[in-house]
Amino acid sequence: MTAQLIDGNALSRQLRAEVAARAATLSAQGTTPALAVVLVGADPASQVYVRNKVKACRDAGVRSVFEEHDAALTETALLARIDALNRDPSIHGILVQLPLPRQIDPHRVIEAIDTRKDVDGFSVRSAGELMAGLPGIRPCTPYGCMKLIESTAQSIRGKHAVVIGRSNTVGKPMALLLLQANATVTVCHSATPDLGIHTRQADIVVAAVGRRNTLKADMVKPGAIVIDVGINRNDAGKLCGDVDFDGVSGVAGWITPVPGGVGPMTITMLLLNTVEAAQRAAARSTPNSPRG
Ligand code: NAP
Repeated sequence: MTAQLIDGNALSRQLRAEVAARAATLSAQGTTPALAVVLVGADPASQVYVRNKVKACRDAGVRSVFEEHDAALTETALLARIDALNRDPSIHGILVQLPLPRQIDPHRVIEAIDTRKDVDGFSVRSAGELMAGLPGIRPCTPYGCMKLIESTAQSIRGKHAVVIGRSNTVGKPMALLLLQANATVTVCHSATPDLGIHTRQADIVVAAVGRRNTLKADMVKPGAIVIDVGINRNDAGKLCGDVDFDGVSGVAGWITPVPGGVGPMTITMLLLNTVEAAQRAAARSTPNSPRG
């Protein structure tokens, strides 16, 4: 292996310690950062994700309020719960675990969350703020990828970045964050005829596809930074990403592993978004403070 490993667990530990320190300071000043985590139904994967988020909150000194609802909950009832959480000044972030049961439109639910509490950064308004280059809450996974890229201490400015995948939650915001950091950005997707033509020119590749071995060694420029967002299983049932890790790590300059790369950063950025939302809420409620 020639590539340097970008250790998402280590970077997460460092950032979570910073988040915990900020949460402690805010709590001492009378604002304990709080995240409402809403789960509808009993999807086993969602239950694991939610449990991890609640535990991460506890470890960082962020209060979590976990709401578990029956799978038969109506959309109207869920929207009423969101409205109550929006109005609750002690709650600074609201996370509704996706997917939702079929009777509930996820877009309606996400758009119902107060933008200031949209710590997932999934709302149209948050997306618009990112596109317009305005301050706002950034979606956790691409935001975490940026931190991983920055941790290599390589300048992003002027580099060619290729994002594989164009989902609203990962690929598109990832491309916009890289553009904001002055990279020249190419976005590839399922209708891109030859991925390698693009990735071989890339100084930075972010793979967010959900298909293992999408990026192989002969598709990577020597020395490139490779960020693997994908979560898949190999034939042996072991967790793997979109990148052929063994092959690509012989060519790339830096690479994230799966697990232990992007995954832990996603929850870390959720904590950071929640603490920052709490900080802005505290500033708003303090007379004569700068507007948050
Ligand atoms: P998604 O909504 O399914 O989007 C996948 C994207 O990949 C689509 O834009 C699709 O193109 C593109 N694609 C599919 N096949 C392709 C191919 N052969 N060549 C090039 N592009 C192709 O998935 P997502 O939500 O963005 O997530 C992507 C992966 O990241 C999944 O494995 C997911 O589990 C993982 N993930 C991980 C984290 C984490 O915290 N580690 C967080 C979020 C997601 P079209 O648009 O043309 O269909």
